[in-house]
Amino acid sequence: MQYFIDVILPVPLERLFTYSITKAESEFLNPGMRVAVPFGKSKIYTALVYRIHQTKPEVYEAKPIHQILDEQPIITSQQLKLWDWISKYYICTLGDVLRAALPSAFLLESETIISKTDLEFSNESQLKDDEFLVYEALYHQSALKVQEISNILDKKNVLPVLKRLLEKELIKIDEEIYEKYRPKLVRYVKLNDSYQTDGALEILLDNLSRAPKQREIILTFFSLSAATTKPIKVSELIEMSKSTSSQIKVLIEKEILEAFHIQTDRVAYSGEQTEGLKELNTHQQKALAEIKKSFETQKVCLLHGITSSGKTEIYVKLIADALEKGEQTLYLVPEIALTTQLVSRLQHYFGAQVAVFHSKYSLNERVEVWNKVLQNSKNSQIVLGARSSVFLPFNNLGLVIVDEEHEQSYKQFDPAPRYHARDTAIVLANLHNANTLLGSATPSIESFFNATKADKYGFVTLNRRHNDVMLPEIELIDIKDKHKRKRMKGHFSDKMILEMSEALEQDYQIILFQNRRGYSPIVECNTCGHSPQCPNCDVSLTYHQYKKQLRCHYCSYHMSMLIKCMACGSTEMDSKGFGTEQVEKEVHQLFPEAKVARMDLDTTRGKHGYERIITAFEQQEVDILVGTQMLTKGLDFRNVKLVGIMNADNMLNFPDFRAHERSYQLMQQVAGRAGRTKERGKVLIQTYNPYHKILQQVSNNDYLGMFNEQLDERYNFKYPPIYRLVKITLKHRDYAKVNEGADWLAVALRQVFKQHVLGPEFPPVSRIRNQYHKNLLLKIPQNQSLGKTKEAILKIKNSFSSVKSFRPIRVVLNIDNY
Ligand code: ADP
Ligand code: ZN
Ligand code: ZN
Repeated sequence: MQYFIDVILPVPLERLFTYSITKAESEFLNPGMRVAVPFGKSKIYTALVYRIHQTKPEVYEAKPIHQILDEQPIITSQQLKLWDWISKYYICTLGDVLRAALPSAFLLESETIISKTDLEFSNESQLKDDEFLVYEALYHQSALKVQEISNILDKKNVLPVLKRLLEKELIKIDEEIYEKYRPKLVRYVKLNDSYQTDGALEILLDNLSRAPKQREIILTFFSLSAATTKPIKVSELIEMSKSTSSQIKVLIEKEILEAFHIQTDRVAYSGEQTEGLKELNTHQQKALAEIKKSFETQKVCLLHGITSSGKTEIYVKLIADALEKGEQTLYLVPEIALTTQLVSRLQHYFGAQVAVFHSKYSLNERVEVWNKVLQNSKNSQIVLGARSSVFLPFNNLGLVIVDEEHEQSYKQFDPAPRYHARDTAIVLANLHNANTLLGSATPSIESFFNATKADKYGFVTLNRRHNDVMLPEIELIDIKDKHKRKRMKGHFSDKMILEMSEALEQDYQIILFQNRRGYSPIVECNTCGHSPQCPNCDVSLTYHQYKKQLRCHYCSYHMSMLIKCMACGSTEMDSKGFGTEQVEKEVHQLFPEAKVARMDLDTTRGKHGYERIITAFEQQEVDILVGTQMLTKGLDFRNVKLVGIMNADNMLNFPDFRAHERSYQLMQQVAGRAGRTKERGKVLIQTYNPYHKILQQVSNNDYLGMFNEQLDERYNFKYPPIYRLVKITLKHRDYAKVNEGADWLAVALRQVFKQHVLGPEFPPVSRIRNQYHKNLLLKIPQNQSLGKTKEAILKIKNSFSSVKSFRPIRVVLNIDNY
């Protein structure tokens, strides 16, 4: 009797590969364990066992495996089921899923680059001979490929050696250096508890009489604390006492002062483990009861709660329930970098039970969270994470929360698997028989449809803000009229300027939203009309004044700003349209006294970029915050009275069937940042089309009106949620080839899918990084079998790839395209 395993390899090939194993190995192995296998001419890969069987492959000779790498499965059977679903639903390979799901430390292969860690080992005898050889080699050469190490050891299979060294933390896998996650940056000091009494304090000052500088620092600390109820920043203390950070450090080391980070360490600071949960207001209590009731009959529930209604507090209660039952919670957020506020809020309540997972964390951190979740450790009962956290090895999942469920960043674009984390999370929850709560102030049309029309989800609304603060008053400003009557200064209407001055006078903060970064998206010659384009993409270059550059937002191309027109040499260059940089500059000119900050991709790139800006705004060190849609994602600022949307029109005119839905969501979400805790806020929207129905719906908070109208359109034009969409994109350097391929594919698809095929059509930006893109859209009626449809698509795709001249064309399938 022969034994075989089918394994998943981290390569984008359609099928599983079969290797032969011995009888003993077959008894030891289980699905979800890793094995080292030969692949291709000389490569070695880490592969994952998918199935153990006795059927000899027909077309090729199964090679034996090199080695078994695990004693126990590192992937649970539920995870394998989820992977299966993803690969079937999103039409991708299990190899694609494997690469997205597993931290790369689990997937050593020939090309992986290894280097030494800083850890020194004390005793050579701790290492086996082969381990020592690798270690020594890395001492002389800072980084080596697995293949090279294999040559040095003169041994084919070095993965087990490397795995042991990884576990001993003597070597590491080279990757981009990611920032370690740190929730807060601002450091504060307080007096150590033991000096809090008057008597102790006097003794301290006496003791310090021989250290006059230290005494002075303490005295400065006192005068500062007397003047404010706010905690004292280290930076402030240094400045006021004219001291240095090392002098402060000495006082901290002497345990006279104590340093803390205001949000994250408040738990430790108050000496308590966690703070009690907030008591829900009556509306929240009612919503919570309804959610629980709905979970009795339906596994998924949509909570439609307006901004600042306290959805988070409701989530927290559900998490507390799950904790009590000893169940794990997965709390999905669209973007971890923007949730520093949420992390500290959860840590207040649940202390160390909260683990944060992000694909941008260092490998070690990811592996650490992975292992904790696998072991069902106390320290990861609640996992807060962005979309990739659906891949964690939960084993006792009781609750999934998808916050801001409408956010499009839940959908992965590239590379495959192009999964939607919300929908994947629902499948994950079902595999665990867990409940899912979707929350949003502006639900996606899909989810609202599933809850209110299709009866797939339970549905609960919460339409009061906490403390009954009113929703902000939203006013539309007709800037066409303002221009005509010369009431504009730059891009600011007189009304906007007036409201801004008032808000500033009353010490309130302001948020200005412009959905474009840079200074202006188009530069144009006044004489000949030429405008500089990206050489690699089909777009105009955006002017970035701060860097004096023209930059492409689709590839990394940039050049210095032109002095003369490239076409005619004229020096009269003009710019069209405006981005956040220009708004910031105009604000500086209009309000020279105000402190302005900008939050967009350009200002948040660096170390802790987001946090610095969010914290500064939170601490009211900034009066006016200018930003892109980053501003919309669930931030909770307490002192914002006014929100200005500089131009609503370019969002509305975006050529996409979701453009109106998205504009509504974006504007409502930015609007929701205003007046969250105190007085009623105000929102001003500048537009050329004040009668646009979406703007009317935004200003009346008419979600239902928006939903019904959009749903009608989706019916009429056969779009989701009425039809499913498969977008097929062809990519190639050669324009003619893409055209030819797309036409061929269109004919083949039409034979099967008839009138449900749209295109081929070039997208608005038809060339990106020198690749032409052309799209075909497939609309699948709800009653049509999804499995069969996908089979047919795959079949067509395969015969496409078998045409020799089409083979180099990349064909990308995107299901439920967002
Ligand atoms: P949402 O997520 O719905 O926008 P949040 O949960 O962020 O709203 O709540 C808005 C603000 O109101 C937060 O600062 C929160 O701490 C506060 N809040 C909400 N509910 C309560 C409550 N029951 N008791 C005290 N504060 C609350
Ligand atoms: Zn010109
Ligand atoms: Zn470009």
